[in-house]
Amino acid sequence: MRFCRFNDHRLGVVRDALVHDVTAVLDGLPPLRWPTPQGDHFFNHFESLRPRMQTLADALPGVPVSSVRLLSPVANPGKIVAAPVNYQLHLDESRADKAINFGNQVKTISDYGVFLKAASSMIGAGQAVVADWPERRIDHEIELALVVGKKGFRIAEDQALAHVAGYMIGLDMTIRGTEDRSFRKSLDTFTVFGPHVVTADEISDPNRLDFELQVNQQTRQKANTGQLIWNVQKLISYASQAYTLYPGDIIMTGTPEGVGPVLPGDTMHAWIDQIGEMTVAVRGSHSAD
Ligand code: MN
Repeated sequence: MRFCRFNDHRLGVVRDALVHDVTAVLDGLPPLRWPTPQGDHFFNHFESLRPRMQTLADALPGVPVSSVRLLSPVANPGKIVAAPVNYQLHLDESRADKAINFGNQVKTISDYGVFLKAASSMIGAGQAVVADWPERRIDHEIELALVVGKKGFRIAEDQALAHVAGYMIGLDMTIRGTEDRSFRKSLDTFTVFGPHVVTADEISDPNRLDFELQVNQQTRQKANTGQLIWNVQKLISYASQAYTLYPGDIIMTGTPEGVGPVLPGDTMHAWIDQIGEMTVAVRGSHSAD
């Protein structure tokens, strides 16, 4: 199943190029009281909602995906975990390019471990990345992203995929500079997810997916998740040594070589095999224009 969020927090099932509005199933979610439980409320209950999402999508006509405004498929992730320098050729380019490393020695993912991005930086494909620090280089990073479906702590690698609800495309937008990653990658609009979640049963092997990012129709990044230094299972296992993973938590797996700057007015087009594609605009200000 593929599902998205769109327009005014609608929930949609995506089939071919159509969105079927199944928002009515959310009436089946238990009411929330403060303090709310850990995890994203929808993903905490996704498996029980899933059959009704299917039957409702069968019964209702769809509208073209192109006619809706896509939001992040996950509304309230408890945390967004991300992997630094997890492709060898991106490690190589980071070491070679002073505009990326700012004079810092670039170490390996085994040295850094994983880091966290603020959930408030998250947008969907129908929103826009805002690049309004003109004196600073702001880069695209396309990444396979996964959504946790089952709570776990200290998950073994051979159990890791059983904790995945689904996959989506992620863009880990980054200001280059000397500050800590969590600052440079958590500006508002700097985490893009979409176009939808593809449930894990539809992905044959997450460590064998071609993907590509174009800016203004020029290919910038093109790779395969088979080149990950730490693969999907290893990232889940590693992150869960420190953090309990809850449904709705997101793990971004890292970006390959070819990172480069975007400017206001640019259009990014991201594609991952078996997941889909999305187009994301870059704007120069947070005000509507
Ligand atoms: Mn990244």
